[in-house]
Amino acid sequence: MTDVYAVIGNPIGHTKSPLIHGLFAEATQQDMVYSSIEGRIGQFAADMAAFRTAGGRGMNVTAPFKLDAFACATERSPRAQMAGAVNALKFDGDRVIAENFDGVGLTRDVTHNLGCALQGKRVLLLGAGGAARGALLPFLEQQPASLVITNRTLDKAEALAKEAAAHGPVSACAYAELVGQQFDVVFNATSASLRAELPPVPAAVFAPGALAYELAYGKGLTPFLRLAQQAGVSQLADGVGMLVEQAAEAFAWWRGVRPQTGPVIERLTVPLV
Ligand code: NDP
Repeated sequence: MTDVYAVIGNPIGHTKSPLIHGLFAEATQQDMVYSSIEGRIGQFAADMAAFRTAGGRGMNVTAPFKLDAFACATERSPRAQMAGAVNALKFDGDRVIAENFDGVGLTRDVTHNLGCALQGKRVLLLGAGGAARGALLPFLEQQPASLVITNRTLDKAEALAKEAAAHGPVSACAYAELVGQQFDVVFNATSASLRAELPPVPAAVFAPGALAYELAYGKGLTPFLRLAQQAGVSQLADGVGMLVEQAAEAFAWWRGVRPQTGPVIERLTVPLV
């Protein structure tokens, strides 16, 4: 019998997940279909229940339902716990098992696809929202020399650093305190780029040979990437690899088969110009 999966979000028209999972299923010869569902605001539990009743095996969850999915789960992985948010669900009888693959997908893109080890590096994370939260544990597992979180609302960054302190050398500071500091890898995990805005990060934070990584994808050269480029950074990346890698993690979790990501990333890549 064909197994049924879906991504749920609102709005959902922009989603690339059905395309990505369709390509994975074709390449690995899995008997499954993957569609998109426009969830109703405030009705996540009912929409999830309807999908399960209709035979759904698993779901990806995107904005604005990642916290609702966390609340509805009966089991949560440590990564989902730390993120306080869920981007993948697996249904098994009465069990609703929750995961968060955003951070692990991001880390895999950086270390595997871009060939940039985080071990021993000075890492700067801009933003303290859901994506930043999800990245913390996977980043710290790579044993960076330091991980600094900065955020417009500083107390959110401070709270995150405190929560993750037991897992590695993590600290928080205000944007203004970045003056005079340099980092080997700088992640823009703010949503500023979605509105073509630039977080107030000093151009001098990029160390020689740094990687500048924009989590948003498909937007070409965002203000953050342009800042990095103008500061002399030659390694620029956006979040397309993260998107495909988190999808591959979910696919492997559901199906027990790891798909190749390279051809799918290539297909979805928008040039950074
Ligand atoms: P959230 O809404 O949870 O968090 C937004 C963050 O951005 C907050 O820290 C907020 O600061 C900060 N922010 C927003 N506007 C500005 C600004 N103008 N200047 C400085 N800081 C700002 O968003 P998410 O964490 O879900 O998403 C963050 C980014 O990651 C988005 O670009 C999203 O597209 C991308 N993403 C990419 C994925 C992928 O697969 N490639 C997956 C998930 C997310 P404050 O707390 O002060 O409001």
